[in-house]
Amino acid sequence: MSGGLIDLHTHTTCSDGALTPTELARRAVAKGVTTLAVTDHDTVAAWSELASFKHADLACVCGIELSSHWGPLDVHVVGLNVDPSNVTLLAGIASQRDARDTRARRIAHKLKRRRIPDPLAGAMRYAQGAVIGRPHFAQHLVACGAVPDVAAAFKRYLGKGKPAAVRTDWPALQTVITWIHAAGGKAVLAHPLKYRVTSSRRRQLIKAFRDAGGDAMEVISGVQRPDATSHASRLCTEFGLLASLGSDFHRPSQSWNDLGHGLVLPGGLRPVWAEWAEWAA
Ligand code: AMP
Ligand code: MN
Ligand code: MN
Ligand code: MN
Repeated sequence: MSGGLIDLHTHTTCSDGALTPTELARRAVAKGVTTLAVTDHDTVAAWSELASFKHADLACVCGIELSSHWGPLDVHVVGLNVDPSNVTLLAGIASQRDARDTRARRIAHKLKRRRIPDPLAGAMRYAQGAVIGRPHFAQHLVACGAVPDVAAAFKRYLGKGKPAAVRTDWPALQTVITWIHAAGGKAVLAHPLKYRVTSSRRRQLIKAFRDAGGDAMEVISGVQRPDATSHASRLCTEFGLLASLGSDFHRPSQSWNDLGHGLVLPGGLRPVWAEWAEWAA
């Protein structure tokens, strides 16, 4: 379990990623990743396919990235090593799906008022049965020529405060931590440096997460500067959390942010995987 490349935050076609679970696992092997967690938004659907992927050089971990809220802030919590058949987690996933479906209809309504053609059908065409999210609307907006690229779709329509933004009643931070723990997993605060809040608010968030029973935080999320890693490491130590890391990989075209890229945990931290007994041998 030591010495390899570990990537504990990735997406597939089951949410807003471009690769199927099998394609993701193959790419992980090609990139030298030895431990891969799939963490799709609000679903464990990738696991049934990934569990049957066998390769001597790759261990796969069942994960999820759950949407939650802390006050007015949307916060993502990664669950690692969860039991995908746990009833509490599955009930939570079902309610997340309802929340996403309701949100999708409201986003579509707002886009329609902005003269975007068939927004719901368009987004669903890109989702292809996956958990629907704003990236699918973004793809539709690009396809119908409303914006030049996905980034512009968020900037002009879908981002916070933009015309098609809707407030979603995600469950509270502590609720999703409870689901993860019920499923036997570790709860990891995803990309803590990426929330647009002041540094004192960020510290309050990490403390609230820890006090709610959270286990770990991502010290590295995708490509980040060395000073960001040092900062995150200090926060991790200060709040007594385990350390995790992941690329947050979505698609090969984002070549700067590939699987396993730059994922080396700084010394002195206790890795979230340290307690995964079955790998200790
Ligand atoms: P959702 O889960 O539906 O709220 O969508 C959030 C996802 O949209 C994130 O996980 C990212 O993959 C993607 N996303 C968020 N903001 C942007 C942005 N500015 N540009 C491109 N993708 C984004
Ligand atoms: Mn995403
Ligand atoms: Mn996220
Ligand atoms: Mn993610």
